[in-house]
Amino acid sequence: MPHVIDRNHLNQLIRQRIAGGTSVAGLTEANGKRYFYRTISNPEKMVFDSGIMPFNSIKQFLFPQSEPICSYRCEGKDLIVSDAEPFVQEQVVFGVRPCDAASLPILDKVFAWDFQDRFYQQRRAKTTVVTLACKEADKNCFCTSVGLAPDTQAGADAMLLQIDAETFEVRTFTEKGAALFQGQTAESEKTGKTAEPPKTKFDAKRVELYLKEHFNESVFDHTSMRCVGCGGCTYVCPTCHCFDIVDEGGTAKGKRVKNWDACQFSLFTLHASGHNPRAEQPARQRNRVQHKFCIYPEKFGMILCTGCGNCTRVCTASLGIHPVLALLDQKAAGKN
Ligand code: SF4
Ligand code: SF4
Repeated sequence: MPHVIDRNHLNQLIRQRIAGGTSVAGLTEANGKRYFYRTISNPEKMVFDSGIMPFNSIKQFLFPQSEPICSYRCEGKDLIVSDAEPFVQEQVVFGVRPCDAASLPILDKVFAWDFQDRFYQQRRAKTTVVTLACKEADKNCFCTSVGLAPDTQAGADAMLLQIDAETFEVRTFTEKGAALFQGQTAESEKTGKTAEPPKTKFDAKRVELYLKEHFNESVFDHTSMRCVGCGGCTYVCPTCHCFDIVDEGGTAKGKRVKNWDACQFSLFTLHASGHNPRAEQPARQRNRVQHKFCIYPEKFGMILCTGCGNCTRVCTASLGIHPVLALLDQKAAGKN
């Protein structure tokens, strides 16, 4: 039988967690149009009726935009290096879009590959993800084209499905999710709603095979004419994970910091010699598409994209990744 929770009980549960020292984040309204995940102190501020993906992604709670990894100081002739403190605080993120949460099992692969990234892994272990099944999709959504759905379970510890303005069905998938809602729900005949899945927009396997055979594809020469290389598409993307490491401070003391970077920036691949293997935007765009739809699937067996559509929503040129994939798929199908 389905289990449900009403908004008052949910708020109470969140207050208890915050009082117990857990950091809680959820969707909050930003400007009346779009939403942001933010750490909250008052559950009343959380929004559970927003439609599509918010502007930011859950990745910032596991892979912050800027994070110290160690500090250093000179004492006489000695250099003392101290590791950053481990991440020990429990955190819960509520209202995560299923396409956003689905990025986590994908990112797990790269952060536990040739290097075990303890920063990501510690946060992942301490984080409980509560998704909210989508109730609507917009023209930029394409989760079904990458094998997902508006109520996909990937990456979620628990899922809320809206029954009405004040009531949610609760489904739990992991021990963390079950522990969070233990004793907080009631049995009910009612079940929550999900959006009509968006129509499949391209064949991801066909695109992957085409990319493998067509490295010097001319589509990128045309589509990248619209791109200004701002990197916005990568920052809002739940699966983009490139970072740079810089030292901040002076010779006496300072810290080493890991900062988000973006493959769409011209300096991203600039070598110290002055050579840049991706000197022009078409090569940068090709890299982003190849990485997500060809290289990552080959290496890890997963597409590095969840079809959230945020890269197109944020792009001032309405580009992002889907319009490029649609053109590639047409060529792969021999229609262009
Ligand atoms: S595709 Fe759009 S968002 Fe991405 S770098 Fe180009 S202009 Fe910026
Ligand atoms: S590439 Fe675009 S559609 Fe795919 S996960 Fe990233 S932001 Fe979402």
